[in-house]
Amino acid sequence: MSLSNITARIRKAETDAGRDPGSVTLIAVSKVQPNERVQSVLEAGHRCFGENRVQEAAGKWPDFRESYDEIDLHLIGPLQTNKARQAFELFQTIHSVDRPKLAKTIARLADETGYCPDIFLQVNTGEEDQKAGVMPADADNFVTECRALELPVKGLMCIPPVDEEPSLHFALLAKIAERNGLKGLSMGMSSDFESAIALGATHVRVGSAIFGERDYGA
Ligand SMILES: *Cc1c(COP(=O)(O)O)cnc(C)c1O
Repeated sequence: MSLSNITARIRKAETDAGRDPGSVTLIAVSKVQPNERVQSVLEAGHRCFGENRVQEAAGKWPDFRESYDEIDLHLIGPLQTNKARQAFELFQTIHSVDRPKLAKTIARLADETGYCPDIFLQVNTGEEDQKAGVMPADADNFVTECRALELPVKGLMCIPPVDEEPSLHFALLAKIAERNGLKGLSMGMSSDFESAIALGATHVRVGSAIFGERDYGA
């Protein structure tokens, strides 16, 4: 089982970085994976999972929740405002808050329901056209705006460009978080979670290294 292997590598990266063992949360990214694979990770005792799409998560997690207690679900993909209400029902944490309109919708839902998932703000550290997230130069203002809306902002999230050294992006995200007094850093995936931990990641999002390659053709 790759889960134990990844957990061991996380512990080692924590120790190497002089950080407390257990200070990094492993989000097992189960998007597109067959239910049998997800179930085997649940059977191994893991409870923290990440999904990219509200619709996909709604199709499988209510059933898993009937069989397993204390599932902690994280939305790590883009969120349309018209799916926000459904996201509230499914997810304990939303990592992809990336624009004022979405922040306002979440604040309104929180008012209405008396509950709000934990929030991470996504920063487009590579300033890529096709990628979600606020520009690094706008991040401080966006943090201020979300705090004024009384959102429970826990930290920042980034997805580095595929063709660049991820460490530079992790370091930039850590710097923006620090100057805004934010502790949470959602960064690092299968290929780079150890360097993310070295640079302060509190949440790593690891999919294929745990579950195997995703089969989008299925
Ligand atoms: C799919 C995905 C991951 C996991 O990617 P792997 O390379 O399979 O570990 C992490 N974060 C986000 C935002 C993703 O969409």
